[in-house]
Amino acid sequence: MKTGLFDLIYLVSFVLLSIVRAVGVNRASRAQGSKRRLPPLNLDTMLTLLQSLGLFFLPFIYLFSDWLDWANYPMPPLWGWLGAVLYLLGTWMLWRTHVDLGANWSDTIEVSAGHTLVTHGVYSRIRHPMYSAHLVLGLGQCLLLANWIAGPSLLLLQLPFYFYRIPREEERLLQHFGEQYYDYRQCTGRL
Ligand code: SAH
Repeated sequence: MKTGLFDLIYLVSFVLLSIVRAVGVNRASRAQGSKRRLPPLNLDTMLTLLQSLGLFFLPFIYLFSDWLDWANYPMPPLWGWLGAVLYLLGTWMLWRTHVDLGANWSDTIEVSAGHTLVTHGVYSRIRHPMYSAHLVLGLGQCLLLANWIAGPSLLLLQLPFYFYRIPREEERLLQHFGEQYYDYRQCTGRL
């Protein structure tokens, strides 16, 4: 196992991130009652899984084995500190989005019967703050892990997901909320 300072900071921050995510998802699931189901096996789900590869699978291979050591590089400590700040900022942003989105969170683009359009909090300025949080986490990971594969993996592997997901998610919200979403989209930024 890697025991460098920033590797350990990454590990602790990842545990914190996982707790934040679990609490957010759990609260949303409980508020939705029996409505939540496993996501269908489609391209959207595949791209979510691809993102997970960068979120923890490759970093864990780097941390707990020597398989990726050929891609290690010496990293200036300043990068590592900056990475730690960004990773924690991303975690905090994720928490804020879960609080604001509440029961409207879902791992698909589906809109449920009791769905309400959230336009307050972080959603008052940007339409996809949760995805922005992931981008910030991806940047943080890039600077925390001194490895050319594990470092940038989250940042790069989430891009196909966003290119695919965002237009479809917005289209679905537009269908459901109509003019209300149209107006909301006019006065907010995407990411
Ligand atoms: N794209 C958003 C939310 C991700 S969770 C973000 O990055 O913050 C995905 C779920 O959130 C989808 O079911 C989608 O319909 C829902 N959603 C996205 N924006 C929403 C909003 N402003 N209000 C309510 N639900 C929203």
